[in-house]
Amino acid sequence: MYFPNGGMLDDELNNADISDGKATVRLGTKTYDVKVKSKGEDCLDNVVKATQCKGRTKKGKRCKNETGDASGKCHWHR
Ligand SMILES: [Zn+2]
Repeated sequence: MYFPNGGMLDDELNNADISDGKATVRLGTKTYDVKVKSKGEDCLDNVVKATQCKGRTKKGKRCKNETGDASGKCHWHR
């Protein structure tokens, strides 16, 4: 969540109940009314989300690197 002052408040919002599309987030002495817009509107849908690499390490364990590549694999495992 981005605020005009540049702060990111995901931690606070994680505690907020936005199931009905709105929430009140209290931060210090200020209270923010947060409304969830209709799904997809102004959201970052075009941003590639990082996923865990599908590759495996030499020991056969799941690679813990995260990648946004379409292959689902980090730069080591492509
Ligand atoms: Zn990997």
